[in-house]
Amino acid sequence: MNHSRRQSYRVKRTLVTLLILLAVSGLLQLPIRVNADNENPPYAYNHCCDSNECIFPSECKRPGPCSCRMPCDFIIINPYAQVDWSSFGQYRAALHNHTTHSDGHTTLPDAVRDFYNHGFDILAIGDHNVVTYRWDTAPTGALRSLPVLMSTEEKEAIYDGTYGRSGIFADAIFPGHLGPQLRRPQPGGMISIPHVNEQSHPDRGREHILTLWADFNNEPRQTPSQVFYEVERLGGLSIINHKGRFTRAWVHPRRILRDGHGRGWVASNDPTIIRRYVEFYRDFPSILGMEIFNSLDRETQWDRILWDNILMRTMPNGRKVFGFSNDDAHNCEEVGFNWNVLLMPALTESDTRIALETGAFYAVTRVDRRLRVNHLRPDGRDMLYKGNERTRFLLEQPTPGIDNIVVDNNTITITGRDYDRIQWIASGAVIYTGSTLDLNLHRSEIAHNYVRAQLINTTGVAMTQPFGIWEACSYLASEPAMP
Ligand SMILES: [Zn+2]
Ligand SMILES: [Zn+2]
Repeated sequence: MNHSRRQSYRVKRTLVTLLILLAVSGLLQLPIRVNADNENPPYAYNHCCDSNECIFPSECKRPGPCSCRMPCDFIIINPYAQVDWSSFGQYRAALHNHTTHSDGHTTLPDAVRDFYNHGFDILAIGDHNVVTYRWDTAPTGALRSLPVLMSTEEKEAIYDGTYGRSGIFADAIFPGHLGPQLRRPQPGGMISIPHVNEQSHPDRGREHILTLWADFNNEPRQTPSQVFYEVERLGGLSIINHKGRFTRAWVHPRRILRDGHGRGWVASNDPTIIRRYVEFYRDFPSILGMEIFNSLDRETQWDRILWDNILMRTMPNGRKVFGFSNDDAHNCEEVGFNWNVLLMPALTESDTRIALETGAFYAVTRVDRRLRVNHLRPDGRDMLYKGNERTRFLLEQPTPGIDNIVVDNNTITITGRDYDRIQWIASGAVIYTGSTLDLNLHRSEIAHNYVRAQLINTTGVAMTQPFGIWEACSYLASEPAMP
């Protein structure tokens, strides 16, 4: 009896002592030492914390994921990973334009010749609520004029480049654009993207959705989601056009609204607007992205802010949203101010689709009003809203181009031409200016798992697509414990 009572007393005393020790160690934050080799997730512990340099040493001695403050490798999701910069061609694509089949002033054959003579390689005619298949095939939908088509012979000659380019761009090299480094693997044809439509009914015309490779035409009162759904079901792709027109960011941009900010800033930072688009990109993988430049950057001048706001919410989920630069030309004077350079092994329709889907392209513009690139005309007055004979001088100016992008574990390096500076942007802010971004020097600023770059000179801007950025240790550890 005595013996068993003594035994139970000893057990109780041991338990109480253990409990006290545990409580005290918890209160004093005493490190609980565990054999790191056996019990810690090796990646998190060894990668970040097995060193005196760790900022929070007590954190490091605990098992499990820790805060990662030491030089650390990154996982970089590079949209140009499949690009062989030494052998691929750089092809200029015009993705959003109009003819007399909707509200344009140029017939379809004349529009095709305009783009061809401006040195474009890929052309999509996206008339409003009209499906354009090929240039020699009658479009379907709400045509505003009798169809005017190109002969099959002429179309084929433009495709294979045997139809001579004429006018000031007869050499097929756009002045200052691709320049002597143009790697056109053939004398220069221009191909079409089939089944293109600028679906302009959704939300009573407040959303314009450019759709490609989808034989589908929207109906009045359809919602954007219904359009995205149908296009996706048919295997097509979508791009959301000139959002600034509908956010009203561009209207009276200097009017001060809230917190001392202008109307454009407020609209592009509006949580309701941001959420609307984030949900579209979340729900429909076939939406490639959004226009970030349209014609002479009147309506889109605040849309790079919106783009960054969207990226800040989609990139942490691995959802890339690509930026596009389009003329939205309605006549021949509006051609040649914006384009997308697709990086492809050859000029084919299938490679075009791959480049668009993977983000193997960069967007170029001659006018960026927020970066004050050609925001004024030579006489000091504001840049015009649309191209005409008074903006023709812009077509002769050099614009930046990209020759190579090298990505390793910690850095991204861009080699380009015709630029004054390369800016790197994360979470909507410029975090560095220079050709090589060292991720370790900007870890705290890359808070939303992406960076993007823009090459700028006084007469043009080239923008890369976003690079996904993940710290290797925090990526592997499920929940990085930030003290
Ligand atoms: Zn539109
Ligand atoms: Zn349009």
